[in-house]
This record gives sequence, C-alpha cells and structure tokens, in this order.
Amino acid sequence: MSDHKFHPESLMMSFGYKPELSQGAVKSPIFQTSTFVFDKAEHGKAFFEVAYGLREKAEGEEMGLIYSRLNNPNMEILEDRLCLWEGAGDCAVFESGMSAITTTLMEFLSPGDLLLFSNPVYGGTDHFIKEILPRFGIEVMGFYPWEQDHLAEIIRNSGKADKLRMIYVETPANPTNILIDIANAGRAAKAFSTAEKQVLVAVDNTYMGPLWQHPLKQGADLVLYSATKYIGGHSDLIAGACLGSEALIGRLKGMRSFLGSMAGPWTCWLMLRSLETLKVRMEAQARGAEAVAAFLKGHPKVTRLHYLGHMDDPAQQAIFRNQCLSAGAMLSFEVKGGEPEAFRFLNALKLVKLAVSLGSTESLAEHPATMTHIGVDPGERGKLGITSALVRLSVGVEHPDDLIHDIARALEAV
Ligand SMILES: *Cc1c(COP(=O)(O)O)cnc(C)c1O
Repeated sequence: MSDHKFHPESLMMSFGYKPELSQGAVKSPIFQTSTFVFDKAEHGKAFFEVAYGLREKAEGEEMGLIYSRLNNPNMEILEDRLCLWEGAGDCAVFESGMSAITTTLMEFLSPGDLLLFSNPVYGGTDHFIKEILPRFGIEVMGFYPWEQDHLAEIIRNSGKADKLRMIYVETPANPTNILIDIANAGRAAKAFSTAEKQVLVAVDNTYMGPLWQHPLKQGADLVLYSATKYIGGHSDLIAGACLGSEALIGRLKGMRSFLGSMAGPWTCWLMLRSLETLKVRMEAQARGAEAVAAFLKGHPKVTRLHYLGHMDDPAQQAIFRNQCLSAGAMLSFEVKGGEPEAFRFLNALKLVKLAVSLGSTESLAEHPATMTHIGVDPGERGKLGITSALVRLSVGVEHPDDLIHDIARALEAV
C-alpha cells in the first residue's frame, strides 16, 4: 500500500470491519448477542485478565469479545470510525448524549473537586451539574461567555483554585450561538494544572458535530456528543459519544462498564449507517442554513438573527475564525413581537416540523423560552438573550428554496 492518507468520508464504509469474518457480507451484520463463545477456557481467562487490567495486552494480541456490556463488534467498529473525523486516540459510545456526559463527569470528578462550566449548557447537563454533582461533594461554578477573558481571575477569586479539576465548555451555546474560546479554556486549565493534578477541558461539541469544530486540536482533552443529533442525523435514535486520548477513554470505558451506559448493537449499527452520509448531510444542511439566514437577514418581521455566518461582535468573529470550520446549520431569530407572534409563525410552518432536537435530515423549529429552555430561570434567560420572541431553527437537507418558501409563508401569517 502507498502512504496515501484517506479522508474520513472515504473510510466510513469499510474502516475497522473485516468481511471475511462475516461470510463476506459487505456491511457489518448486527451482532445482536449478549455474550460471546470462547474457543477455549484459556482464551476466556486471557480476555478477562486484560479487561480487568490485571495485565497489559501482549505484543500483537487482539482483545477478544466477552460480553456486550464490555465490548461488541458493532460498538468497536463505530468507535474506530468516529475517531477518524477528528484524529482522536479513542472513543467510547453511549446509549444517549446524557449518559456520555454523566459517565464522563462521574469518572473524572471526585468529592472535593471543583468543576468550572460555561453558561448556558444543555438543560439536562445543567441539571446534572447543579443538582446532582453537589450531592456527591463536587463543587460547581459557572461562568458567562462575556466573562471568558477573565477565567484565571475567576478561578483565583473563588479561593478554590487548588480544587479545580475540570473546565466544561459547550460551544456554540444553544440557542443563541455564542462562542466560547476552547484554546483559552485550555490555557486556563494548563495554568492551574500541577504535576499531581491535570485540569481537564471537556467540550460538548454536539452543535458543530465532528465536521465543523475539532476541540482536541484546540487544546481540549475530551469531546462529548449527543450522537442523537448530527451523528445519528435522522431523528430515529438516541446516542452519545466521548473522544479523547487512549488513556482517558480507557478510564472512561472502565466507568461505562460499571454504569452499563454503553450503546447497544442496534443503536451502533444505525450509527454506522448514518456515518456513511455524515459529510454530505452536514454540508447540505450548512448550505441550506446559509440560504435561510440570508433570507431572514433584513426581513421586516425578523428583529434579530443569531447565525455564525452573520456575527457583529469582533471578539466573537475572531473565535469563529480560529475555531469553527463552518457556520453550521443552527440559527435562531426573533420574530417581531413576542410569544404570540413567535407561536403564530411556528404554527404556520408546514415543511419545517415543530419539534425540539437538531442536526437531522428534516428541518425542525421550536420556541426555546417555553420549550427547551423553560427550566432556565427567567432572569437568566433574559441575560442570555432567550426572549419570548426567539425561535430556533435546525436546518435539514431539504432544497433551500422550499425551506425559504415555507418560512416566508409562515412569516406572512405573523
Ligand atoms: C441533545 C443534547 C444533549 C443530550 O443528548 P441526548 O442524546 O438527548 O441524551 C446534550 N448536549 C447538547 C448540546 C444537546 O443538544
């Protein structure tokens, strides 16, 4: 073989799968099995020794299959392929984005540790951080996007710098697309790391997917996904993933085995299928979003547009240029008026479906203030720009002309 380096999209149909082990099937079968037969007792013993960390794998030794909570071919192929998009050392997949996030926080935080996190984060994450982690003696502290230039100061002023263990970032922030600078968070984490204690940076990259933002290259240690969104991409499954170095993901897989939060074979198989079209889907979605944003900008019934391709703030633009490879397919905007006008718009949409979630082949619209962000306290919503007139749109793969036709008609109804 030559040393030609193949692009991830070229490897999504074949990488990590050997047809000769499955009767020549061009696609991986679904290994819908809970347990695996050992050839000999000696093999079972050898696999368990490695699985339980009693010894390192020998040179060239392949880890055998034991039991589907620990490993399964569909899960392993999926994890190998997910690593390719961002050059990660290893990946662990989960049965939901929330189980990826919670398993990660449980593995890397201990009682007495401090977690610093960006505001706002996904509602489920917000609840877990603020309500559940403190029950395990973990201290948590949030920061706002407009405070991000002063992270070191915030950490020092808390008086708990020595306890800092992780900086957790979600960027772009949902639903207003405010960006957090990952490299800046990485520098703060380094500044507070010591020989005994590495401060980790974890980034929820769901909003940009594996294509448009590569946090590991910006200085993050762990990348988290709700694979329900772009990776699954068809609104027909719930799943999650975490990527990072072999050492960190090895630890995470240990915790996953005990919590039992791994993805099942059927979910993994569906995602393998989804990954084959990840790039063409996401690129079509971004093109659609660009056309829709151009239409919304300057529309007399649209008072405010949050789209990464049309940002005013120079500091935000600088982060965008340094960190994002596309303006993505998520946007939000304020309909002139308030909740009644926003609802009239949403109720008049026909092609675009009124539903939460994002990153799928079909376009989806929702009302953050009364739906995804209803749990955020009203004062906080105001600070974050989540007004009663705000509508969030996830652009799918439909023809942009048809989307614009649908949106234009719905705006007329306002
Ligand atoms: C949807 C979502 C999650 C939660 O993922 P599930 O797959 O629903 O468990 C976490 N973070 C972000 C940014 C999300 O959009």
